[in-house]
Amino acid sequence: MSIPFNKPYLTGKETHYIYQAVQSGKISGDGLFTKKCHRFFEEKYRFKKCLLTTSCTDALEMAAILIDIKAGDEVIMPSYTFVSTANAFVLRGAKIIFADSNVQNPNIDATKIEALITSKTKAIVLVHYAGISCDFSEIVKISEKYNLFLIEDAAQAIDSFYLDKPLGSIGHLAAFSFHETKNVICGEGGMLVINDDRFVERAEIIREKGTNRSKFFRGEIDKYSWVDIGSSFLPSEIVAAFLYAQLEELDNIQNHRKKLWERYDGNLKGNRFKTPQIPEYATNNAHMYYIVCNNMRERDGLITKLKENGIMATFHYLSLHKSEYYQKQANGVNLPESDRYADTLIRLPLFYELTFFEIDTITNIINDFFTQL
Ligand SMILES: *Cc1c(COP(=O)(O)O)cnc(C)c1O
Repeated sequence: MSIPFNKPYLTGKETHYIYQAVQSGKISGDGLFTKKCHRFFEEKYRFKKCLLTTSCTDALEMAAILIDIKAGDEVIMPSYTFVSTANAFVLRGAKIIFADSNVQNPNIDATKIEALITSKTKAIVLVHYAGISCDFSEIVKISEKYNLFLIEDAAQAIDSFYLDKPLGSIGHLAAFSFHETKNVICGEGGMLVINDDRFVERAEIIREKGTNRSKFFRGEIDKYSWVDIGSSFLPSEIVAAFLYAQLEELDNIQNHRKKLWERYDGNLKGNRFKTPQIPEYATNNAHMYYIVCNNMRERDGLITKLKENGIMATFHYLSLHKSEYYQKQANGVNLPESDRYADTLIRLPLFYELTFFEIDTITNIINDFFTQL
């Protein structure tokens, strides 16, 4: 048996739409398919304004520019996250203040944030790990009390909710990813969601190399020029065409992934390791199935055991506060929960074409592994 960790799912329409985009004669950005993708998200989730980007990393970089991060500004975020969450703000000169994760899940521990706020704090960046919402009740209160920007790294959080609110709709800005490892994909791609009107016009400019070209194309001005800093953050129509084929199948993809997730969860509950806990305020978008082992030796042993059986399971983030790049600035900060997830969390294969039979095989090996310990 050979089960990869991930296998990109194709709906079948991708190449058809790419062909249409090519035939249309316009394959640079912001054409018909980009507009279709924007409309899809703005209608389905009532996001105020959506802009496709070349990656979630780029959407985060745009967010950092939009909130005017300057040298010395402090940004609070979890240490247990992908480098891009931090890098986007570091590029603008921010000092990252890492917070610990919850005991129950890898999301930022909302009760630890307030103590980290100083006069230099400018923003809180949330990561909805595995597509499970952070605890907004506390976090929104803190951000309002200290007048901080709230930014959602919603890379994994498509079609997931906090109570009845879609993730990506609560922060001032949010960033999604369509990298091939996410639920809905286009190879490399992302999206910036703007929920605060103040940022809409400037976001278009930053995304178009610091020019007001978007306004020009809408006929609102008769020539376009350099008006701000910016870069080339918009994807081509070829990428947007691919993405649109995926979005048309979003409900199907989500329903199917949830069935696979539930199969894992049913098979794995009640053993000597932890399975994901979904807080009452959160929905599950079946982005990831993970388990948390009791120690690193156990976790690495399980990865090896699965590998011997042809099954690719992987650990996930290493705490950013302990990274080679950040260590010197970290001043010995201690984030035990973040380190615990770095040492003991294991992600299991989860992709559209995975079968119940394969899941049962994987979970039998896992359950046997723990029984024999
Ligand atoms: C995937 C991911 C990113 C990066 O997304 P790209 O589209 O590859 O730039 C950032 N943050 C988190 C939490 C992610 O899971």
